[in-house]
Amino acid sequence: MIKFLDLHKINERYRSEIDARIKEVLDSGWYLLGKNDEIFEKHFAEYCGTKYAIGVGNGLEALSLIIKAYGFGAGDEIIVPANTYIATILAITYNGCTPVLVEPDINTYNINPDLIEEKITERTKAIMVVHLYGQAVQMEKIWALAEKYNLKVFEDSAQGHGAIYQGKRTGNLGDASGFSFYPGKNLGCIGDGGAVTTNDKEIADKIRALRNYGSHVKYHNIYQGENSRLDEIHAAVLDVKLPHLDYDNARRREISKYYRENIKNDKILLPKVYDEKAHVWHVFAVRTEKRDEFQEYLKQHEIQTLIHYPIPPHKQECYKEWNNLSLPITEEIHNTILSLPISPVMEDFEVEKVVEVVNEYR
Ligand SMILES: *Cc1c(COP(=O)(O)O)cnc(C)c1O
Repeated sequence: MIKFLDLHKINERYRSEIDARIKEVLDSGWYLLGKNDEIFEKHFAEYCGTKYAIGVGNGLEALSLIIKAYGFGAGDEIIVPANTYIATILAITYNGCTPVLVEPDINTYNINPDLIEEKITERTKAIMVVHLYGQAVQMEKIWALAEKYNLKVFEDSAQGHGAIYQGKRTGNLGDASGFSFYPGKNLGCIGDGGAVTTNDKEIADKIRALRNYGSHVKYHNIYQGENSRLDEIHAAVLDVKLPHLDYDNARRREISKYYRENIKNDKILLPKVYDEKAHVWHVFAVRTEKRDEFQEYLKQHEIQTLIHYPIPPHKQECYKEWNNLSLPITEEIHNTILSLPISPVMEDFEVEKVVEVVNEYR
């Protein structure tokens, strides 16, 4: 079986280093907000090119803390792509804000910048972009709109660690960015983890407090905060893995290039890329009319695939009020998309087998 993602194999490459760092944490007797969090925050900010990084509990909370730190709440609207993982939308509604769903571009699967302006009202506070599947959003028009209407730009970078747009990495393309270190992400820990990056000192300080009950000084609570911290063990593991992220992303690019050059089947639509550096291939998503049949065919041939995602946010039961919205491009993507295996630990023969099997699909 060719696995979609072999997490054990991914982490096994650094096993002795990870073991040593975990032992160190255990021996230290200090498990939260200690030197591992501090050093990882420093290294991650350097990597992203931002002044600050703040470790938090997970990607969802990274995003919701950003919205909270800017003080947005009931009555405020945040523009967001309609085709994204549910967490992006949950972060907005959690704060009481209204997500304004915008259709994606059918070529990039990212928010269509040309459809944003018509959605801006006097209640609009921010545009939340999502670097979906690992491809950095083309920010030019979004920056211009943010400037014109005085809006904040937030990034959901949970799938985009390391992608580069106009010389800058994701995490450094807006006012603040949320990252997830869920085990399956391009940079993943061995449990839940996340981070916020920003160049704004005031926001960085505020998030530092918000993640820790709203206090900078123990028992002095200046905000109604939360408990969303990055554990020392996860910070240590991430700090071991971060120096290898570019190598891993390069291997993902290599596999994606091989797929794009060698998959030749007119039933299968390949992903489009506007710049190789801008895509870190968190997911290699193809589209095909009879998606479920194609997935079953691959399974018969021992190839594991996933669907990112089978149901769009506006069709979810938890958001009944939007179930009747018509978002045809989003729905088309959700109905036809399928993710082929791609990961830094895939062997060449596995990549070749995937191409062979896909090419034989009729
Ligand atoms: C994974 C993911 C999140 C949520 O991250 P968690 O750490 O799982 O909470 C948010 N947005 C996108 C696009 C994601 O892929």
